[in-house]
Amino acid sequence: DSAPSAPSPPKVRSKGLDVPNLWAGGKSKRKASAAFVVIGHVDHGKSTLMGRLLLDTGAVSQRDVDRYQKQATELGKSSFALAWVMDTGTEERERGVTVDIAQHHFSTDSVNFTILDAPGHRDFVPNMIGGASMADLAVLVVDANQLESGMKGQTREHVLLAKAVGLKRVLVAVNKLDATAPYSWSQDVFQKVKNDVLKFLGEAGFAANDITVVPCSGLSGENVAKAPKPNEPAAWVARTDLTLLKALEQAVPSGGNGDAVKRPLRMQVADVFRGGITNPLSVSGRMTAGNAQPGDPVLVQPSGETATVRGVEVSGEPRDYAVAGDICTLHLTDIDPIHICTGDVVCDPSQKVPVVESFTAEIEALDSLLPQSVDVHLGRLHTAGSITRLVATVDDKGVTLKKKPRMVKAGQRAIVKVAVEDGVPVEGGEMVVLRAQGETVGFGIVERTGG
Ligand code: GDP
Repeated sequence: DSAPSAPSPPKVRSKGLDVPNLWAGGKSKRKASAAFVVIGHVDHGKSTLMGRLLLDTGAVSQRDVDRYQKQATELGKSSFALAWVMDTGTEERERGVTVDIAQHHFSTDSVNFTILDAPGHRDFVPNMIGGASMADLAVLVVDANQLESGMKGQTREHVLLAKAVGLKRVLVAVNKLDATAPYSWSQDVFQKVKNDVLKFLGEAGFAANDITVVPCSGLSGENVAKAPKPNEPAAWVARTDLTLLKALEQAVPSGGNGDAVKRPLRMQVADVFRGGITNPLSVSGRMTAGNAQPGDPVLVQPSGETATVRGVEVSGEPRDYAVAGDICTLHLTDIDPIHICTGDVVCDPSQKVPVVESFTAEIEALDSLLPQSVDVHLGRLHTAGSITRLVATVDDKGVTLKKKPRMVKAGQRAIVKVAVEDGVPVEGGEMVVLRAQGETVGFGIVERTGG
């Protein structure tokens, strides 16, 4: 299939990878990696807080921030300097590369973190679903001074989408509690915000055990990576001994990726980069199963074209290999770039992901569902489709309640058959989100494909 002049990839190399030792245990144990999406209402301080995390963990330098500070001050927007750190993607945009899901990396002694940032403009919802489906957890930022807007509109939609793609853990940053804000380190206000957010997230279906709530200020940096000075009025915060960064480390899912590493390679393409000088074609995304290293042959679905991995990056750094759980970039060769786009799946050529025109899924209905047109979101992939059959309503355990219902009511669970207009690469166990008229109408898990 590849050009005769191209050297064939060394076929046995991937077998030479000491898989059991890559994760959990072995001598070559690596630092854990975890990715999160940042959600919350506009202006509640998301970008500033992330800029602060990047600065205080050394991922960006004080010199860079000083430079932004100077530019921001000249424009009369000095309070936005830290937020601009999150805009470093502009450079890429200037070079003509669009990034739908921007990645920023920072690390602590024990974890390499990736911030997945879906810029809130064009195509926001598909990008948000794509970003959240690559994440281990969500960080919800709530301005303590603006509790009302923190529980509505944009926040509500973000929380719902996070839930719909299967995220379980939420870390809540109760933000802007610093001395310059109206509620300067008020413990009462923090407690009230905490109670309300817990109730709100509980109603959205998140378990109390999976939620951590931390007071902080992205602008001053207090309790983000560094504990505040133990003086009043922030003494109570210092006593909690839980900075946002510590809470992030604690929220990282522990170990247990060993099995996924041994399964056949699966990586959905979140972004495609074409035309780079050293790497003419690269794809980024989260490896959900298997591993990859330079020389490995891979197959891209739905095109069915093969390619060869010529380089690997993990957390923004060149590496010898990537494994399940990693947010990574694969540099590819031996393939025409027209055969690969966002939403495609890079997989093991000998155990490829099927491309199907229909699947059944167990769906939690958020609105009443009939046989109807829907937008079908499978991670980064979204396409037009329809619910073609209501198979049965089921209870929490999947036991059939009623076969062939005429409709499924909001709040019910049901097995439905979904057809898509073009074949999509999908397998059982993946999360699916169904939307209609700009609203999420249902979400759940793909059970069976085809048929
Ligand atoms: P985003 O839209 O959620 O990303 O919010 P930004 O990070 O752009 O911040 C919006 C505004 O809130 C800016 O003027 C920030 O300077 C301000 N801000 C952000 N974080 C804090 C904070 O911790 N304390 C105070 N007092 N202001 C903040």
